[in-house]
Amino acid sequence: MVKDQPKRITASNAPSSYTGGITIKSRRELEAMARAGAIVGATLTLLKRSVEPGITTGELNRIAEKNIRSMGAVPAFLGYQGFPGTICASVNEEIVHGIPGKRVLKEGDIIKMDVGATIDGFIGDAAISVAVGEVDPSAQRLMDDTEASLYAGIAAAQPGNRIGDIGAAVEGYAMERGYGLVRGYGGHGIGRHLHEDPHVSNYGEPGKGHLLRVGMCICIEPMLNLGADATKVLDDDWTVVTADGALSAHFEHTLAITEDGPKILTVHD
Ligand code: MG
Repeated sequence: MVKDQPKRITASNAPSSYTGGITIKSRRELEAMARAGAIVGATLTLLKRSVEPGITTGELNRIAEKNIRSMGAVPAFLGYQGFPGTICASVNEEIVHGIPGKRVLKEGDIIKMDVGATIDGFIGDAAISVAVGEVDPSAQRLMDDTEASLYAGIAAAQPGNRIGDIGAAVEGYAMERGYGLVRGYGGHGIGRHLHEDPHVSNYGEPGKGHLLRVGMCICIEPMLNLGADATKVLDDDWTVVTADGALSAHFEHTLAITEDGPKILTVHD
């Protein structure tokens, strides 16, 4: 799940889960983060295998919830600021925060599935974009490049680097390829709370922003569009779509900053 830009958060509208501080995890806490991440990764692997023409987003939601609970965790998004699903299911021009329901997936669609799970008090959060049957080559390229931009960001998440290094890496990758880069939403710190400091923008200046320290856990989650970067929110107050109706892709991992570099906690097939 993504976070609004922090400029939108003031003392009066701060969600209860916004901690306003960066947390450094102990070794035991990192072990719990790894357990949460592994459950999210396994759930995404299962969801990817389950996507096919004819399935509804609500059925995918049920598959995810059953899997998360069977692994001893609870869905982290369900009820978060009133969100009604276990997963966010966003189709085609929907970027993030789509509500799962009766929508039937069709051949040629692309679906973005965002999953969060809590175990032992700690949260994992990750997202994938998946083709429904055969998709247009431009849609496949968008998904492949969005995932590659995530990995460009992860490669920059070295201890001693700064948040701006991550944003600059994602932005550079996206801009070189001519995509619309969603700027109003981005990644975040994560731990006992779904959205912790710092905000992890998908754009930025190298060497600027919060220092990345060993023991921090963050989510990096680029959203790239085939069209322009402008977004709007639908009347359900959740679903974020591209303003021009063009396709959008989204990938996300939770990672820990370690002495050896970034460690992805939400590995999936
Ligand atoms: Mg997230």
